[in-house]
Amino acid sequence: MLLEGKKALIFGVANDKSIAYGIAKQFKEQGARLAFSYVNDKLKKRVEPISEELGGEFTFPCDVCDDDQIAQSAETVKDKWGDVDILVHSVAFANREDLKKRYIETSRDGFKLALDVSAYSLVALCGAYEPLLKPGSSVMTMTYLGSSKVITNYNVMGVAKAALESSVRYLASDLGENGVRINAISAGPIKTLAASGISGFKSIFSHIEDRAPLGRNVTTEDVGKSAVYLASDLSTGVTGEVHYVDSGYRNMGI
Ligand code: NAD
Repeated sequence: MLLEGKKALIFGVANDKSIAYGIAKQFKEQGARLAFSYVNDKLKKRVEPISEELGGEFTFPCDVCDDDQIAQSAETVKDKWGDVDILVHSVAFANREDLKKRYIETSRDGFKLALDVSAYSLVALCGAYEPLLKPGSSVMTMTYLGSSKVITNYNVMGVAKAALESSVRYLASDLGENGVRINAISAGPIKTLAASGISGFKSIFSHIEDRAPLGRNVTTEDVGKSAVYLASDLSTGVTGEVHYVDSGYRNMGI
């Protein structure tokens, strides 16, 4: 198995439709040990059964906007495991009203919130967990094509994803000093809780079926399998990359 005994921290499971769930499931099949964060008590109730289903070893609270909670979570993980082999950041948020009007109308607070939760949180997590990430370990985050192309209503989340992808390159430079890799997976659209917040996102799915080389939308299983590659020793020479799992859609022109 590709991840036998590797300790994987998963940030961002909300339910069994989450991309983080699909990743954790594939990690489990490859022999990884798992632990899951949850953002608040409401999510704790959803994450705990999932952790149980996938044989997770523990769950812990972590609102990625709160530096104290991030620091506390790193302490918890240090006590439980000592170190970490894999860290999955699959977290994003923006106000619903910013995902349905013109981008030009984005408020200062809405902009700050989206960038804080969806981009800065990766920097904060990498900083707090750096002492636990041993040489050879792998960090990954989830991004979307809206970082570099205009996708209707994706708006401030696209700007946050651009910051996230750029952060991956800078973090790769910093973490590379420790022999730690970091990459982003750019997934095609998938029907999740987060996706349901983007106005009109549903219409994208048939467009992908019509246009993408593979003629279908991707699944969380597709993303999970690529995540196994990025987490495992199959990708020891790969860092700072954006790896597309999108049925080939992003390469299509007219
Ligand atoms: P999801 O709703 O299942 O997951 C989003 C997660 O972010 C949830 O678990 C939520 O609890 C967490 N979160 C939000 N605010 C948080 C905070 N302050 N602290 C900690 N956690 C917080 O949706 P998803 O589609 O699986 O999203 C996961 C990632 O994948 C996101 O970064 C999203 O932008 C990205 N992505 C999604 C798609 C898609 O089409 N669904 C495509 C490409 C990339």
